[in-house]
Amino acid sequence: MQNNYAKIISGIYTDILSKENLGKVPDYIPEIAKISADKFGVAFLDLDKNSFVEGDYKEKFSIQSISKVFSLTLVYKHLGEKLWERVDVEPSGNAFNSLVQLEADNGIPRNPFINAGALVVCDILLDIFENPKQEILNFIRNITGEINISYNKKVAASEMENGFRNAAMCNFMKSFGNIKNNPNEVLDLYFNLCSIEMSCENLSKSFLFLANGGKNPINNEEILSSSKTKRINAIMLTCGFYDESGEFSFLVGLPGKSGVGGGIVAVLPNHYCITVWSPKLNLKGNSYRGMKFLEEFTTQTGESIF
Ligand code: GLU
Repeated sequence: MQNNYAKIISGIYTDILSKENLGKVPDYIPEIAKISADKFGVAFLDLDKNSFVEGDYKEKFSIQSISKVFSLTLVYKHLGEKLWERVDVEPSGNAFNSLVQLEADNGIPRNPFINAGALVVCDILLDIFENPKQEILNFIRNITGEINISYNKKVAASEMENGFRNAAMCNFMKSFGNIKNNPNEVLDLYFNLCSIEMSCENLSKSFLFLANGGKNPINNEEILSSSKTKRINAIMLTCGFYDESGEFSFLVGLPGKSGVGGGIVAVLPNHYCITVWSPKLNLKGNSYRGMKFLEEFTTQTGESIF
């Protein structure tokens, strides 16, 4: 290790804690709006099992769109390259919940990390597995060794009641034939995946296989081939931060994924995973402090994929 990660992480944490607190907790999912806005946690974990943590790193929060990486991993593992007939791999440049491109693209979402793409991935999960909800939980529980990770039924129900755009999107894609199952079942799975609760510590553990060429760092078992792992990292780099993906790549220079619960997970392939959680979001829907933290982190360590 050339860098003193412990010192860098605690220095940035203290600095941001006292200086940076802009942004807003989103109010469009009423259950999420209740979270305390000042939570702030960080968990770094590398392939040599070095771990450095700060603040609320043990507290579980709603991972929201970060779950899209788990569902994509399972579907890609089972379906292979045929997946890309149903969903593309281009950054959308539009908001995560935008419908505008779907009509021109014949119901094929631009990428698996915008909501439309994640809904198609959920539709495929329903075809592949008898019980996709259990399958996703098993995957996350196995990889983290945390058997208590689960869905938050209140958050899922709150979105089911208020998720009119997602419902519109799902029905619109159904009209193009790119949703095969009952849209309500697809939406139910999608909202449940978004409601999974994990801590920064759990998330860094669960993403570490993406820094390890697709192998589970605990037992070296292959979760995904190295080629598929490269591709998931590539999609995280180009599409992981809504219409701020270019900016994240520019400022931070790591593949990663954010969620409207305020979490951001970033991966440095062959080295480490780092998760930051702070619920107040910037205008593009990414954690304000999370973005600041990671920008400063790659600046001070001098490490990025570039
Ligand atoms: N459940 C959220 C939605 O569909 C997820 C958004 C996100 O984290 O990007 O609106």
